[in-house]
Amino acid sequence: MFLRRRTAPPPPAGQDGAAKTGLSPARLDIRGVSRRYGRTPALEDVSLSLPPGEILAVLGRSGCGKSTLLRLIAGLDAPDAGEIRIDDRRVAGRGRDEPPETRGVGLMFQDYALFPHLTVLANVRFGLRHLSSGAARAVALERLAEVGLADRADSYPGTLSGGEAQRVALARALAPRPRVLLLDEPFSNLDAGTRERVRADTLAVLRQGGISAILVTHDAAEAVEFADRIALMREGRLVQCDTAERLYRAPASPFAARALGDIVEMEGLASGGRLTTPLGTLALTDPTPDGSVRVCLRPEAIRIVPRGEGVPGRILRRRFVGASTRIDVEVAGLDAPLRLTAAPDGIAGDGVALGLAEGGVFVFPAAKSS
Ligand code: ADP
Repeated sequence: MFLRRRTAPPPPAGQDGAAKTGLSPARLDIRGVSRRYGRTPALEDVSLSLPPGEILAVLGRSGCGKSTLLRLIAGLDAPDAGEIRIDDRRVAGRGRDEPPETRGVGLMFQDYALFPHLTVLANVRFGLRHLSSGAARAVALERLAEVGLADRADSYPGTLSGGEAQRVALARALAPRPRVLLLDEPFSNLDAGTRERVRADTLAVLRQGGISAILVTHDAAEAVEFADRIALMREGRLVQCDTAERLYRAPASPFAARALGDIVEMEGLASGGRLTTPLGTLALTDPTPDGSVRVCLRPEAIRIVPRGEGVPGRILRRRFVGASTRIDVEVAGLDAPLRLTAAPDGIAGDGVALGLAEGGVFVFPAAKSS
């Protein structure tokens, strides 16, 4: 932790933290925003809202439009359709294009690009040119203290570790007291150990300030770790925006199911309110038209049951992994063996019986395989 107020627990997201630091987090509304580059649709009809103090992760593969979305919010680019509002102010769309400097939006990029010929303090002061020299210095030192680097104020960026440089970049982004902070893959250049620490520390600073923030990432675990909600994107479109738990327990599509956590996929048949799969049958909880369906299962939806009480499977391989045993099981009707976790010595012989549990079974129309 590099927070100054080590003893105080971080306040919850929202106004409480803001009151403490004097920052006033903004509400952000993105309504029906689209952006094309030539014939490439980078964003299509994206709508999202960020309540004050919330941290949202925008999750998706490379090229799905994440950075374009951030650029539009920051004012570095303009939407072709739709509008962006910060609190009650329209900052983009329908003829309005407010310049980046007056939007109150801070940016922190992957290559944090500190100016190598300026000291740490001068880097943090960079966005404070509207203040008098003394005031800018005081604010910059305060921000550096918040990230635990006040003693490096006179150092040059070349002498900092990757983690320290990232913390200076955070101090610089927060120096002008932005009302929304946008973070574009800010941790991806750090090695694994440093990444985890800098990420946790960054989150603590944002929570402490009650700062509204959007983190762009392609890493689902990072999104889960960092954000209150996750906006899952695919090919310029918003697939689902929800808490990690909702995305895990109620994905809107097979694509969303695959985004967070492991799934096993198979064909099934819905008939008269029951689902039939190669792993057995189950009552359907949601109304589902009769016919072929795409079934996605979380690993916990597959149970190992006493022999004779489930669908038979043949164990192809078993591996001891300490507290449990991994088994690869071949089941008639499935394309690939299932990889399951069993009790360390609970499985004898090369046969096993499997059944379905209630939670973690998602049923989609057969045509919706992605
Ligand atoms: P991500 O951040 O998710 O990797 P981007 O927002 O950078 O995705 O890009 C989305 C799509 O828009 C990609 O197909 C990309 O090639 C295209 N794109 C982004 N910026 C430009 C640009 N300035 N000119 C042309 N195409 C662009």
